[in-house]
Amino acid sequence: MIEEMKIWIVFTVFLAAACSQKTFDGDQVLRAHAKDNAQLDVLRELEAMEHLQVDFWRGPSRPNLPVDIRVPNAVLQQVKVFLESNSIDYSIMIEDVQELLDQEHQEIQSTTLRERITGSFSYSTYHTIEEIYSWMDSLLMEYPKLVSRIDIGQSYEGRPIYALKFSTGGNKPAIWIDTGIHSREWITQATGVWTAKKIASSYGVDSSVTDILDNLDIILEIVTNPDGYAYTHSTNRMWRKTRSINAGSNCVGVDPNRNWNAGFGGAGSSSNPCSETYRGRAAHSEPEVKAIVDFVKSHGNIKGFVSIHSYSQMLLYPYGYTSAPAKDAAELVHSLYKLLVVIVRNQIVYEDMGILFLLLYYASGGTVDWTYNQGIKYSYTFELRDTGRYGFALPSNQIIPTAQETWLALTKLIEHTRDNPY
Ligand SMILES: [Zn+2]
Repeated sequence: MIEEMKIWIVFTVFLAAACSQKTFDGDQVLRAHAKDNAQLDVLRELEAMEHLQVDFWRGPSRPNLPVDIRVPNAVLQQVKVFLESNSIDYSIMIEDVQELLDQEHQEIQSTTLRERITGSFSYSTYHTIEEIYSWMDSLLMEYPKLVSRIDIGQSYEGRPIYALKFSTGGNKPAIWIDTGIHSREWITQATGVWTAKKIASSYGVDSSVTDILDNLDIILEIVTNPDGYAYTHSTNRMWRKTRSINAGSNCVGVDPNRNWNAGFGGAGSSSNPCSETYRGRAAHSEPEVKAIVDFVKSHGNIKGFVSIHSYSQMLLYPYGYTSAPAKDAAELVHSLYKLLVVIVRNQIVYEDMGILFLLLYYASGGTVDWTYNQGIKYSYTFELRDTGRYGFALPSNQIIPTAQETWLALTKLIEHTRDNPY
């Protein structure tokens, strides 16, 4: 009887959610392989054809780096013909996006029920912003001496923006980590939640974490795009941007990773409010970006900055907006090499290791280019799992393994920062 009731609850919740959510029935994710710059330009043309409503999961950047495109069912044939007629090779990465999202939804529903029954928080499922904020309250209560919450601003729609601070006191140099600036990259917020618990519970227990926190503070912003994240749960799972209204356009939102004052307006960003890479009307126009800008400036002693995205399993360092090498490029590459050794030893294969030599991914107005120009030498972007099999719909059973390998990498970079003061 109880079992039946549970099934019934799951079913009705599922139906209710399915009714209000945008669906992606029959949408496919195609992986295009551009052989040269001319083919990359053709893919950029496709991106600009607004009426098709294609959604680039991995945008065109360099020849031989895959380009993943979610293509709505209604224009699937048209897009395939377009690619074929331009001699662009492609394969089908995801046969039906909605099928993956249905599975994801069912997993969440059953974990939520389990959480309600057992009264415990699950680190291996995806949570809403309300659940994450209430979990933060419990974390603060559990570790009052080590963890505090800083209110760094308010989102466009008025949600509070929180950063967690892990500190043993005094004014120590700090490491900043953010997750979820692109709201649909759910693995990143989930990794942030796991990481917070890991840091808090390891101080005084694990010598590596203890030594880090005796020398540095860690600041972690988990829901960096609160409005976007809420929207991915309520309405459109594939929402990437902020939710600000764009004057004179029906299209909503700005790409918060094109909105920083570092090469603002340059290549790899769009001036079209309907684009997924719309940069906004001005640098730092988005309150979610401005909150970090103000925090970083007023703090004045941030020595490392890691902005976490998904997917593609890449580790990137500045610059994205110019081909001029960053002054510290050699050291930054070296620090990433150290980290790859760790990842490989632990059998975690970040697939395209060659990316270290292909770092030039034109994207202007990005977070870590700005932080690097502010003098934060150790500025990196992480792209977490996977390499495209599931893309943004990464199954929740990969949350903990992803968070664990990310923590290994973060630890190495934080230790490098601690051991090489500047
Ligand atoms: Zn991203």
